[in-house]
Amino acid sequence: MGKGRRKFLQQLIGVSGAAGLSAVPSLSHASTPKAQVKDIRLSKSDGYVRLVFDMDRSVQHSIFSLHQPERIVLDLKNASMPHGMIDMIQANSLIRGIRSGIQNGHDLRVVFDLHEQVSPRSFILTPSGEAGHRLVLDLHDSEKKSEKIVSKKAPKKELRDVVIVIDAGHGGRDPGATGRKGTKEKTVTLQMARKLEKLINNQRGMKAVLTRKDDRYMKLRHRIEKARKSNADMMISIHADSFPDPRARGSSIFALSVNGASSEMAQQLAENENASDVMFGDVSLTNDDPMVNKVLLDLSFTGGIESSLDIGDEVLKQIGTVNKVHKKTVQQAGFAVLKTPNIPSVLLETAFISNPREEKNLRSSAHQLKVAKAISRGVNSYFLRKAPPGTWLSEAITDYKVKPGDNLAVIANRFNTSVDNLRARNALQSNNLNAGQVLKIPVS
Ligand SMILES: [Zn+2]
Repeated sequence: MGKGRRKFLQQLIGVSGAAGLSAVPSLSHASTPKAQVKDIRLSKSDGYVRLVFDMDRSVQHSIFSLHQPERIVLDLKNASMPHGMIDMIQANSLIRGIRSGIQNGHDLRVVFDLHEQVSPRSFILTPSGEAGHRLVLDLHDSEKKSEKIVSKKAPKKELRDVVIVIDAGHGGRDPGATGRKGTKEKTVTLQMARKLEKLINNQRGMKAVLTRKDDRYMKLRHRIEKARKSNADMMISIHADSFPDPRARGSSIFALSVNGASSEMAQQLAENENASDVMFGDVSLTNDDPMVNKVLLDLSFTGGIESSLDIGDEVLKQIGTVNKVHKKTVQQAGFAVLKTPNIPSVLLETAFISNPREEKNLRSSAHQLKVAKAISRGVNSYFLRKAPPGTWLSEAITDYKVKPGDNLAVIANRFNTSVDNLRARNALQSNNLNAGQVLKIPVS
C-alpha cells in the first residue's frame, strides 16, 4: 500500500472513529502525531560535514554546543527515530560518535561527540520535488571556510525515475483471443497491466505509464508513440496466448525492439491491422500460421535487441515461479530500427486463454496479482544491473551484506524502507536471507 493511500485510510478511520468523541479535547491532543526521522544522510565536503534528517512532517528544533569534551546537541520537539538508525552514521574526521535519547518523554535528542570545536548551523527545508521535510545540520570546522563552501556549492543534480510503459494487449473492437468461458484477452490484460502499474509506482525511482487505461482500440503505432513520448526505458506488452488444442499451456516471452520513429517499415506495419497483431498480437516463431511466420522471417533483427532479451530473461525467470513456462527461452521478434533510440521491449504471453485451467487463472484477481508481482520482480532485477545513468535507481542504491542474525524486517527498519520494498527491489521470493548475501538498498 502506498504511503498516500495509507494516510488516506488513516484519515478515513480517524474521521469515522472520532465522530462520537469530538467533544473530548484531550483525546485529540494526545494523538498529535510525532515527527519521525525517516532517514539520516551524511555528506562530507571541504571544511564541513552535512547531516540531513529526512522527516515525515515539519519539526521544531534547537541546537547548542557543549565544550570539554566538544559536543553538539540537537533537540527535535515531539519527534522520534527508528531504533538503530543513528548507528548507521559512521564516525569521521570530525564526528567521533553519535548518540540519541528521549527528552521529556516525547522529544528526541541527538548528541554528536566531536574531535574538535565546530560552528554548527541548521536550517529547515520544506518539501520540494521528491524530497519531503528536511532538517539540515552543517558542522563547519571554521567560520571562514564555510563562507567559501557556500559560494562554490554545485547545483543539485536532479535524478529522474526509470519509466516503464505497460501495454495491455488489444482493446475496444479488438478483443484478442477468447476463452471457452468467454473470457476476453483484452479484459484480463488490462487488469494485469493495472496491477503491475500499482506495484511499480509504489517503488521509489520507478514510474509506470499505461498505453491504455480502459477498453479502447489502439493501433500499434499509437502504443509505441505513447512509449516514446513518455521517454520509456522499457516497454512490456501483456497478452494471453491461444491455440486450437486446449491442452497447450504456459507462459512465453518475446523480445522486441521497437521504434516509433517514422521508419517506413514500422509505419507500414502499424498501418496494417494484421501486422499490428503480428507485432503485439499472439506471435510465435513456430506459429502454425504461415503468414505470421513469413512476416517474422521478413523482419530484421537488430543489435539493440540485447537489452530486450536481457529483460525477457529476468521476467521469464520470475514468471517461472508462478506459472509453467511454455517456451524456456526468450523468443525474438523485431523489425528494422532505422533511428535510435529504440526502447527495449518484451511481449509476455502470460498463459493460454484457450486452456480451461489457465483461463480460470487469468480471470482470478489473486493469480493476476501473482503474475504482476513476478513481472515486477523481473523488471527490478533488470534495473538493479542496468539502471540508465541519471536515474535515481542508478545512484541511490547501495549494497548491503547480510550479517548473521539479520532479517528483512530489521534491515528494512534500519534503512527506513519496507520489507515489501526490499523484496521487490531484490527480486526475493521469500523472507529468507543468508549471511553474506548482498542486498540492494535505496539510500537517499
Ligand atoms: Zn494478444
